[in-house]
Amino acid sequence: MSSFTTTCVFCNELTWAIRIKNGKPFVCGLGNNPMPVKNVGRCCDKCNTTVVIPARLEAMNESTAV
Ligand SMILES: [Zn+2]
Repeated sequence: MSSFTTTCVFCNELTWAIRIKNGKPFVCGLGNNPMPVKNVGRCCDKCNTTVVIPARLEAMNESTAV
């Protein structure tokens, strides 16, 4: 269990957090897939919104424009 750390490939923030639900701690947020910007690792919700999603939309626009 000691090696369970996941950091964002863009900002190095932890991609997960411990939340309390029904009086018990649980891990929420295992990160997001950073493709197509990066092929490895995970990214946090913030970078998913600001980096990955715009890149995906751009890639979609390029593929539909041809
Ligand atoms: Zn991040």
